[in-house]
Amino acid sequence: MTSNVLAVEGSKTQRAVLERLFSMAGMSAKLLDSTESLQQVLEKTHFDFICLGMHIPGSMNGLETCRFIRDLPGYQYTPIVLLTTSDANTTQSEAFGAGVTDIFNRNEMAELAAYLTRHIERHRQIEGRVLYIEDSVSQQLSMMSFLEETGLQVDAFESGEAAWRAFEINHYDLVLTDIVLPGEISGLQLVHKIRRLGGEKGDVPIIAITGYDDSVRRIELLQRGVNDYVSKPVLPHEVIVRVRTLINNCQLITQLKQQNETVEQQGKNQLAFLASISHDVRTPLNGILGILDLIRSDDLNSQHQKLLDVAMQSGEHLVSIIDDVLDLSRAEMDEFVIEQQPLQIKNIARNVMQNLKPEADRRSLGFTVQYSNTMPDLLRGDPKRLYQVLMNLIGNALKFTDKGRVDVDLDFIPPTLDQPLGVLKGSVQDTGRGIPQVQCENIFNKFQQVDAVARSKGGSGLGLAIVRTIVEAWGGTVGVDSRLGEGTRFWFTLPMELMEVKDHQDLTGHHETPLFQGDELKVLVVEDNDINRLVTGNMLDRLSVSYTIAENGQVALDMLDQQDFNLILMDCQMPVMDGYEASASIRHSQKPYENIYIIALTASAMMEEERKCYRVGMNDFLAKPVLFDNLVKAMNKAYQSLS
Ligand code: ADP
Repeated sequence: MTSNVLAVEGSKTQRAVLERLFSMAGMSAKLLDSTESLQQVLEKTHFDFICLGMHIPGSMNGLETCRFIRDLPGYQYTPIVLLTTSDANTTQSEAFGAGVTDIFNRNEMAELAAYLTRHIERHRQIEGRVLYIEDSVSQQLSMMSFLEETGLQVDAFESGEAAWRAFEINHYDLVLTDIVLPGEISGLQLVHKIRRLGGEKGDVPIIAITGYDDSVRRIELLQRGVNDYVSKPVLPHEVIVRVRTLINNCQLITQLKQQNETVEQQGKNQLAFLASISHDVRTPLNGILGILDLIRSDDLNSQHQKLLDVAMQSGEHLVSIIDDVLDLSRAEMDEFVIEQQPLQIKNIARNVMQNLKPEADRRSLGFTVQYSNTMPDLLRGDPKRLYQVLMNLIGNALKFTDKGRVDVDLDFIPPTLDQPLGVLKGSVQDTGRGIPQVQCENIFNKFQQVDAVARSKGGSGLGLAIVRTIVEAWGGTVGVDSRLGEGTRFWFTLPMELMEVKDHQDLTGHHETPLFQGDELKVLVVEDNDINRLVTGNMLDRLSVSYTIAENGQVALDMLDQQDFNLILMDCQMPVMDGYEASASIRHSQKPYENIYIIALTASAMMEEERKCYRVGMNDFLAKPVLFDNLVKAMNKAYQSLS
């Protein structure tokens, strides 16, 4: 419904300005240059917005015209704005006394435009269905016509019983109810019945119509779950304003909820998409890295050995980028989990050191790791995540330092009575190029790199974002102090529980020696991908372990019936029958191989996949790309549990 606006204004230029303003607001406008024909115009059309110049040719000035219009039927609440000049000497109280709604100076046309937009918004048709309960038929009819004029669909009833029956089967956007009603269900009881319902139905906004307008009554109504009230005698204009506000607010909330759900769904889709990309990239990488790993162990000259090392590092870097992207998406979806496992801080630091020392030596940088005397042997936390934090911070320190040294300090503040968790405090100090002060604040954001030099070093700009995600998910803090040209110190704190040293795993990165003889393990490799079969097969050949290949879960089940195996290396996603289904049916088979040891080898790095593997009964989990050492480690575990 377009708004009808009337303007009475003597200045031609001002009329032109107003005409443009009204047309931009989508209003249908009638412009008069004097009050002469005003009466006829008002008799013919009803206007819902009126604009009056202060000085208008004709018998009345702006204020007199306003008084005249206010006395006409149907113009009691219509907005009437007065346009004045800066030298006008009309006082505000004079204008408001004459019935003016607001005053605009002629140079405040932008404000008038905003005011008009809000007016239109307030008066646009409302879509919605109202349940209206009023036992006086005459009041009911007059209120209904008002409500319907605003675009609402109204179901009117005279009793609470009839209204309740309608409420149970229909959806309503608002309930407007008299409090005193004939019959069993009064207006208040209706409110009680509605507010006992769960879900959206029970949240419907309710306006009560009350005959007793005292403060106790009003507070009681609001406390019982009524959102708003009007007192008798009911003024339809007041009801409409209140109905409109409540319905608009509720519709806005519903819209926001829907948008939220859409964003959440988009996030989930994005995570699923990234997970499937990660899976697809890991599958060929397993082939590449697995083969490089095998060749590396062969007799090669040092030149070739170096080239292979570079190729391996590039492949591993690619895997870490995919992992970072996945991790950040998980964090955005609140699906980032910090595991609680035995954590040997010194072994983790040693591992990081072993990986990064060659780089420090190559660039003639000093590199030390120091522990405080209070450092315990065993803590509880997430070793993989701590490794990631240290690798990223120390890796950066080495990357951005050309001369000097990188020093890592690890300190442990033991738990106290007040503070049952201890705190691991880490600091990585370098003598490198530093970070400008202004950039220190946002350097932990995704894709933040200080300058072109930083970009040229081949990073992805995700490392520090990952560090912050991990530290915050762990309940710790992370920060940076830096001086340009002098060096940088990254520090972090992580709350950690102490753990008793008993039967924990050794997490050192030393080369694994097989604990088993080749003929002690009979392995069934279940894998659909040719290249991955070749890689795993080669690794098993190197261990002199005999193996048979099945190209999917179904073939594996058939083979188990015919041959003896004690270990299965099981891919997860395969045609015909996947690894989950195959493992579950092995565990439920009640056949001799029911308890066979199963290691999942999967290209999916998602935590949920890992959990699923354990849920269906697999014993261990290796994420592709699988390197020789990791396979040996897992097979050693299998062998120990078999013997
Ligand atoms: P990347 O190292 O992959 O570029 P990061 O998120 O790990 O991404 O680091 C973001 C940026 O922070 C780097 O590009 C670099 O500009 C700056 N930075 C990080 N650590 C250091 C450091 N120790 N010294 C100087 N600059 C650093």
